[in-house]
Amino acid sequence: MPHAPSTQLRADVTVVGAGAAGLFCALAAAREGARVALVSRSPLDGSASYWAQGGIAAALSVDDSPERHAQDTLAAGRGAARPSAVKVLCDDSPRRVRELQVLGVRFDGDRTGGLALGLEGGHSERRIVHAGGSATGRRVTRQLAALAATHERIDVLEQTTASALRVSDGRCTGVSAVGQDGAFTIVSRGTVLATGGAAALWGRTTNPPGAVGVGLALAHAAGADLADLEFMQFHPTALVSNGPRDGFLITEAVRGEGALLLDSAGERFVDELAPRDEVALAIESRLRASGEPSVALDLRAVDISRFPNIGEVLAEEGIDPATETIPVAPAAHYTMGGVATDLDGRASLPGLYAVGECACTGLHGANRLASNSLAECFVLGGRASAAARHEPGPSDPGAAAEAMLPAPPSEASRDALWRNAGLRRSAEGLSELSDDPFPLARLIAGACRAREESRGAHQRTDFPDLDPALDASHAVVGPDGSVRMERWE
Ligand SMILES: Cc1cc2nc3c(=O)[nH]c(=O)nc-3n(C[C@H](O)[C@H](O)[C@H](O)COP(=O)(O)OP(=O)(O)OC[C@H]3O[C@@H](n4cnc5c(N)ncnc54)[C@H](O)[C@@H]3O)c2cc1C
Repeated sequence: MPHAPSTQLRADVTVVGAGAAGLFCALAAAREGARVALVSRSPLDGSASYWAQGGIAAALSVDDSPERHAQDTLAAGRGAARPSAVKVLCDDSPRRVRELQVLGVRFDGDRTGGLALGLEGGHSERRIVHAGGSATGRRVTRQLAALAATHERIDVLEQTTASALRVSDGRCTGVSAVGQDGAFTIVSRGTVLATGGAAALWGRTTNPPGAVGVGLALAHAAGADLADLEFMQFHPTALVSNGPRDGFLITEAVRGEGALLLDSAGERFVDELAPRDEVALAIESRLRASGEPSVALDLRAVDISRFPNIGEVLAEEGIDPATETIPVAPAAHYTMGGVATDLDGRASLPGLYAVGECACTGLHGANRLASNSLAECFVLGGRASAAARHEPGPSDPGAAAEAMLPAPPSEASRDALWRNAGLRRSAEGLSELSDDPFPLARLIAGACRAREESRGAHQRTDFPDLDPALDASHAVVGPDGSVRMERWE
């Protein structure tokens, strides 16, 4: 139920963020009997989840299996993914898709009445369920938000920002928040960060402006470990435009349906269905060689009516995809790193959890496989809901220190991240970034410097090769900002 906060609220579970991960986690906890406070600072369309186009990866076809999905995920992760996290995702994802159907999400069907399964880069099978063509995120979040808004055990606190985590006796005991009626606190057993990623920290991005690593900053200030901040995924095909639609993502599902990438000579130069890191680097090399701002995405073989929101944006841009190619280039897209968690979303600070894009379970390694992130929101969101509601309550709900959110990044810091921690990095650029005034930029620089190799989304011009000694390793950023390389179990 929508709720006007008093000075202190109590809940079993506080969930910060109402994208796919937060909504699903809140609904799952409430279904099991927990009283939930759901804190959301933006309207629905401000979450990355709302913008998701392609869909949700799940091994649902008779020709497919969780093992094959796991093999594809591990291969895309370039030797850095955590096998146990990959197994959890691939085993549980089909069940979570069915759960979403029970919750009322209507996925696109095929002619036989089954689910229509799409193909995307890096997947060896058709396994992407989608809704409304390329409007999957919109359809799913609308349905989950409608359920959360009317659930009797969920207090939805809209237009409310979690400004600090509360920490008492080495345990997270809730959040301090600012809503329309002023500041208040929420005391809870478990606190779940579901605040989304950090790709909008980079100057060129596909993400909504709020995706600036809020959960990472909150968790770091409260003393929790972060991991793998060096792994920012660059999506290969974001629109290049002088207008407000610059950075609009054109899903790789269109490449699954036959779209081609062409260089300035009109020639193909990459396997369009290779994993994202490979395609993005191939485009970056072409752009560097030609000095052009974009390559061409040719959609002439694709029925654009199947991707209505892409058709709408291209029409706004005055591009007819039936006769013209589309200028595209890479943009920062997905944060593989985040708050370091176990496979139930537990952070290193007791009482604190992180799920969805703000978390790092190690699932994605150095390169996320397409459509695994929405699947992660539901699989890990569900698991964390069960663990968080069983945390012991705070001994003294009144006494707590506040770990505050820093000020948002400046345009200069966003430019510096794009320039110095973009598709290719070097020690020189990273040492410039290490002096940036924005704290998260400095932490990202530290993680990039610590990984002295090139792997997946992290390409160092001064360490151009993959170092096998770093297979299955992740870079842990401690509360003091120091970085240590650790191996996944
Ligand atoms: C254009 C685009 C297309 C994509 N397509 C796909 C796809 O097809 N398949 C796929 O698997 N993935 C896709 N992704 C990635 C995927 O959408 C995201 O990884 C996923 O939706 C993240 O969900 P989330 O719930 O973790 O975060 P988000 O959906 O970003 O939600 C975060 C929420 O936290 C709130 N918040 C943040 N800070 C605070 C605070 N301090 N207090 C209160 N609230 C706060 C925000 O307002 C927001 O509501 C796409 C991403 C983009 C940008």
